[in-house]
Amino acid sequence: MMTITTLDEGKYIDINESCLRTMEFEREEVIGRTTEELGIYADAKQRDVILNLLLAKGSIRDIEVNFRSKNGKIIIGLMSADILRIDTKDYLLTMVTDITERRLMEKELEEKNQRLQELNQKLKMQTITDDLTGIYNHRYIFQCLQQELRRAKRYKHPLTVMMLDLDHFKLVNDRWGHQVGDHVLKSVARIIASNLRETDMVGRYGGEEFLVILPMTDIKDGLQVAERIRKEVQEASFSQKGLKVTISIGAAQYNGDKLDKLIGRADSLLYQAKNNGRNRVEY
Ligand code: GH3
Ligand code: MG
Ligand code: MG
Repeated sequence: MMTITTLDEGKYIDINESCLRTMEFEREEVIGRTTEELGIYADAKQRDVILNLLLAKGSIRDIEVNFRSKNGKIIIGLMSADILRIDTKDYLLTMVTDITERRLMEKELEEKNQRLQELNQKLKMQTITDDLTGIYNHRYIFQCLQQELRRAKRYKHPLTVMMLDLDHFKLVNDRWGHQVGDHVLKSVARIIASNLRETDMVGRYGGEEFLVILPMTDIKDGLQVAERIRKEVQEASFSQKGLKVTISIGAAQYNGDKLDKLIGRADSLLYQAKNNGRNRVEY
């Protein structure tokens, strides 16, 4: 699109066909009138900005400008302009490339990318979380433990793991039904998670069994967490009157042994807690 306007008023001297078509004007409507009268710039202040740039630099190249067509359509253009002197009068010669379509496509692409990213994020969350409780699933908490053990070993940080298992949970299902059992599992998962720090991790290790990782935590501090969880589960009340549950916990501090060994130790401590009467923490 090309135009010639007077520099002072912005009065149209000439305009090419392509510009008329894009801006939806007839030639007679334009010649002799000013950009301001026709409302060519979507932002009225834009012309002053352009003029200031021109006066400072003598010419402008590829400035992005929003125009408004006769029917109110916004046209995004890349504008280049030079000052032209004819018989002591200054004129403005402008050339504009219409990039409306390109910008639209870019915007669409950006939005698509955004949606794709969100979807990816959601999918990733789905692959690492347990559907029922919303905490990490078995596979992911296991991966976390591998990673955390490496870190603890490398930096010689303490680390404590806990294996937690609901007591006589079969009876809960038998007495109250599976759905209520599910509800209890969800609530217990929430209780566990709410007693952990931001950097701790909890996953559903089995049906009614949970694994907790406490990085940078020795057994002494780990026991406090375990005891807090045990107590809170014991005291929790559920919507079903008379429904109570307790949890048994085995807590083991990492001592440089292999992952299987560490889990094995936590597991036997849990087993010990069961044997010693349940609703207790063994370490
Ligand atoms: P213990 O104190 O020795 O752990 O006894 P328990 O009854 O909890 O142990 P057991 O392993 O014999 O039974 C676990 C029960 O947990 C059996 C199963 O029906 C129930 N369970 C496992 N996964 C789910 C689940 O996703 N939802 C519900 N509602 N129950 C589950
Ligand atoms: Mg159990
Ligand atoms: Mg179990």
